[in-house]
Amino acid sequence: IDEFDPNFIALDKDEIYLDFRSPTAHKGNFGHLAVVGGSLGKSGAVIMASKAALKTGVGLVSAVVPKSINTAFESRLLEAMSYPADDESGFFSENSIDSVVEFVSDKSSICFGMGLGITESTKKLTEELLQINKPMVIDADGLNCLSFCVEKLKARKLPTILTPHPKEFSRLRGIQTKDVLKDRLNLAVEFAQEYGVYLVLKMADTLIATPDGKLYINTTGNQGLATGGSGDVLSGMIGAFLAEGYDALQAALNGVYLHGLAADLAIEGGITYESLTPSDVIDRINEAIR
Ligand code: AMP
Ligand code: MG
Repeated sequence: IDEFDPNFIALDKDEIYLDFRSPTAHKGNFGHLAVVGGSLGKSGAVIMASKAALKTGVGLVSAVVPKSINTAFESRLLEAMSYPADDESGFFSENSIDSVVEFVSDKSSICFGMGLGITESTKKLTEELLQINKPMVIDADGLNCLSFCVEKLKARKLPTILTPHPKEFSRLRGIQTKDVLKDRLNLAVEFAQEYGVYLVLKMADTLIATPDGKLYINTTGNQGLATGGSGDVLSGMIGAFLAEGYDALQAALNGVYLHGLAADLAIEGGITYESLTPSDVIDRINEAIR
């Protein structure tokens, strides 16, 4: 694929679609998102993803976290619920897996992996969650754990959106990061087609590759996003759109475009690239949607 290919599409406002909200709507119309992740010392990742999801219009959010960070989560996010899972040294334990799978099985969509850590148990949890028939976005350590069982993606029946940055993608593909950057357009399209997933390859100009060979390139976002936590906000937004019932492509396009736009609006509003934090981005999701 190259810049002249008709399947290579600029992700601008024309590609964004938001449903009209009926005045008689109730929270059940906008889905229930399960955000599964976190570990001791990494509660912020789940908090940011959950908060971003709430700002993106989801009906309900339940965070599923190792119980040692449950109080941190609950005290920061009044509007979300949580499911404290059994933990071992601050990570999801082997014992937690069956109950976590049961808890998320009746939710509308799953947002998985931020702050998760990489242990034998989190790798096993990843394999089990892949088997659930719900739309799912996988990010961060969820992707790193996935790199040990990537072939299992092929058996998934409902849509999967992966949101790696180049290093996470290099682990999934088993190649070096510098080689990802040399040929990222073709690598993104090949991966999405081979595994039947929507691949969001995050960088300054994020790519979105689809299972049917389309490739979008984002036009929003700025260097203020180059800071820890930016990706957690994005995955929460995409998870929310999935829970609300948008198809996977629209959820990925809306999430990537509006996340970047929220960051651009923060800069226009006077925040510097240096000072921009993921919390500032969350605070501008409203304006981006408007
Ligand atoms: P992560 O590395 O998981 O925190 O994700 C970083 C997020 O910030 C992704 O959505 C990137 O596309 C975005 N990002 C990082 N650096 C830049 C940049 N220089 N310009 C635009 N977006 C960026
Ligand atoms: Mg990340």
